[in-house]
Amino acid sequence: MAWRFALVIDSVASGSGRGDFSDTFTVVDPASPVLSLGELSAQRGDGVFESLGVVDGHAQEVGPHLDRLAHSARLCDLPAPNLDQWRAAIARVAVEAGPGESVIKLILSRGVEDGPSPTAWVTLGDAPDNARSRTEGVRVATLDRGYALDTPSRAPWLLLGAKTLSYAVNMAAIREAKRRGADDAVFVTTDGFVLEAPTASVLLRFGDRFVTPAPAAGILHGTTQLSLFALLERRGFRTGYETVPIDDLMRADAAWLLSSVRLAAPIAAVDGEVRPVDRVFTDELNAYLLSPRE
Ligand code: PLP
Repeated sequence: MAWRFALVIDSVASGSGRGDFSDTFTVVDPASPVLSLGELSAQRGDGVFESLGVVDGHAQEVGPHLDRLAHSARLCDLPAPNLDQWRAAIARVAVEAGPGESVIKLILSRGVEDGPSPTAWVTLGDAPDNARSRTEGVRVATLDRGYALDTPSRAPWLLLGAKTLSYAVNMAAIREAKRRGADDAVFVTTDGFVLEAPTASVLLRFGDRFVTPAPAAGILHGTTQLSLFALLERRGFRTGYETVPIDDLMRADAAWLLSSVRLAAPIAAVDGEVRPVDRVFTDELNAYLLSPRE
C-alpha cells in the first residue's frame, strides 16, 4: 500500500488533562526513513495496530478501534494509549483523506530497546480496490490454526486476541490458501471450530439468525462485525456469539468475511465447494458499512 500522509506521535500519558495535542504530532514524509533501526516493532513485531476505513474523509468506528487498541496494548503489557491523543491524531490525518475510500493505520510499538517510551505513528493510504470481493465474493480454504478452542485461556502469553504487529503467520496462511486455489483462508481449531480469517471476522446466516465465533476463542473482536450486529438487531434479526463447528460453513444459508477496509465479502466457496451468495443483501450490508459510522 502506498502511504500518502503520516505523522509520528510523541506519547502523552493518559489523564494529563491536556485538550490540545497538536504539538505532539510531527508530520513526516511517508516515503522517507523515519524509524530507528533499534525499533522493536521492526526487530520483533512487538507492538499493536489498528486499520480503520475512511470514507469521503470520515474515519469509521473510531471509538471501537481505539477501545481495541487499548485492549491489545493491555494484553501486551504496553503503556495504556492516551485515547484522546489518538482520537486527535486520527482527526488530523483524516483531514488529508479526500473523497473515496482510504485506510488509516494506527501503530503503537514497544519502541526502541531500553528507550524512554513506546513509538507511535499514524499513516494514511489509498484503500485497495475491493469491488470484486464485495460482489463476486471470496473463495476460502479452511486452515488449521494449530491450537484448540481452550488454548487462549490456558496460554495467554500467546497473545491470541491482541492485534499485534506479528502478522507473518496470517500472511503465510493467505499464501497457502492461494496455493490451494482459494482467495483467502479461514482458520479453524484443532478440535474442529471456526475462528476467523487472517485479516477478517467470519459471519454466518441461518435464516433470521446471524452468528459469529465468540472472541473468547482467541480471535479479534471485529469492529465491522460489532457494527453489523447493531444494524441487524435494529432490523429485527437475532445475533449471537457462538462456538461454530467447521461444518456450519457448509450448512449456513450465507456467510461473509468482514473487515474495516474490505467490508462485507460474501464467501463464494469453501474448500472448493461453491456456496450461495446473496448479492442484494450483501449490497445492503455494504451500503450501510460505507455510510458514516461512529
Ligand atoms: N480478525 C483479524 C485477524 C483481523 O486482522 C481483522 C482486521 O484486520 C479482523 C478480524 C476484522 O476486524 P475489523 O472488522 O475491526 O477490521
